[in-house]
Amino acid sequence: MGKIISIFNQKGGVGKTTTSINLAAYIASFGKKVLSVDIDPQGNTTSGFGVNKDDLEFSMYDVIMGLDANKAIVEVFENLYLLPSNVELAGAEIELTARINRESKLKEALMSIKDDYDYIFIDCPPSLGLLSINALTASDSVLIPIQCEFYALEGVGQLMNTIQLVKKSLNPKLDIQGVIMSMFDGRTNLSIEVVEEAKKYFKGKVYTTIIPRNVKLAEAPSHGIPIMLYDKNSRGAEAYMELAKEFLEYDEGGY
Ligand code: ADP
Ligand code: MG
Repeated sequence: MGKIISIFNQKGGVGKTTTSINLAAYIASFGKKVLSVDIDPQGNTTSGFGVNKDDLEFSMYDVIMGLDANKAIVEVFENLYLLPSNVELAGAEIELTARINRESKLKEALMSIKDDYDYIFIDCPPSLGLLSINALTASDSVLIPIQCEFYALEGVGQLMNTIQLVKKSLNPKLDIQGVIMSMFDGRTNLSIEVVEEAKKYFKGKVYTTIIPRNVKLAEAPSHGIPIMLYDKNSRGAEAYMELAKEFLEYDEGGY
């Protein structure tokens, strides 16, 4: 049975897209069949996988509007598939407003293909809008990346409220999969404090693997490849590989 996981935090720049690309890539490399779903109109996961977002025959926009998801999905490499997105999707939020079950469009679209994959990761936009609500409604669980910076936990209350609201009204089974501490800088006490604070807040849900700040992770997307193919020996690559192992260990007791 496929598992659908939203990578969600309404703050921008916390590492959602970087996690969406690199976690998916490593998990696929371990032999799982993975679908990466881009539901951010910025399409950064799409371009990060080397897919030209300005030249898509079909995209997430069409899928949200009712197109068969299989028509939009492209194969990126072995075991890894992408449901791409681009700026067209920005209009969907407004167009959906008048539709029935507007929160469940993604869920409906993924229902029939869910079991074709082991994991489906959804890269959410940095907002609490209808697109994010669609992602949470479609998901079994949520992965929350948190940047190790001063205001890291600001907004986390709001994030948890949103998850609670969706759980109550739209998706009772929605679970927290785990919390990923990203852009860690070991030279600062601040980073260390933020991790401790997050561990207290999210009791038992914070992954042991911490993603360091590493310039290679920021460079890889401009080459359209995950860190695994860009510089597999970098600290960023090692961290995401460890995270992928920990994710699978926690989720299914092995990889
Ligand atoms: P989000 O999707 O939450 O907005 P991104 O994953 O796009 O966040 O990250 C924001 C920016 O920070 C991007 O330019 C990305 O390349 C960079 N970045 C993300 N994670 C790291 C990291 N661990 N080290 C260095 N740069 C990173
Ligand atoms: Mg992003």
